[in-house]
Amino acid sequence: MIDIETKNKITKMWEEGFTGGEIASLLKITRNTVMGFLYRVKKGGRVFERTQIEKPPAEKTKKVALKKYTNKEITFSSEDETMEFKNIRLFDLSLNTCRYIVSEIDGIDTLYCGNETTKRPYCQHHHRICYKRTPLIKV
Ligand SMILES: [Zn+2]
Repeated sequence: MIDIETKNKITKMWEEGFTGGEIASLLKITRNTVMGFLYRVKKGGRVFERTQIEKPPAEKTKKVALKKYTNKEITFSSEDETMEFKNIRLFDLSLNTCRYIVSEIDGIDTLYCGNETTKRPYCQHHHRICYKRTPLIKV
């Protein structure tokens, strides 16, 4: 319950254009209390003469859309078929071996590419597969 004085303050501040949240924090009550009170008053037939505070229009955010991938971009080259993998196991992986999974046997055993890498997790071939540049198009 809120006292008469608070009710009058809420009404006055609301008519001056304060928001529910602002009134709540200024009077140290919850926003729910403020909005609930205003709702009941409005429901009771009271019409507020609320001052419209002009707010600057929200800045339009620049829309950036991701270009949709076409099938063309994800088709594999003939290089994939001729590519030879060393098919090594997890414990044979080192810092300089490609960790691209080339085959999995019922989730029990996993074979990795194992080709030589330079400061990358994947060999050049698999790096190209895993890291595609995402073209950004401004709308
Ligand atoms: Zn590889």
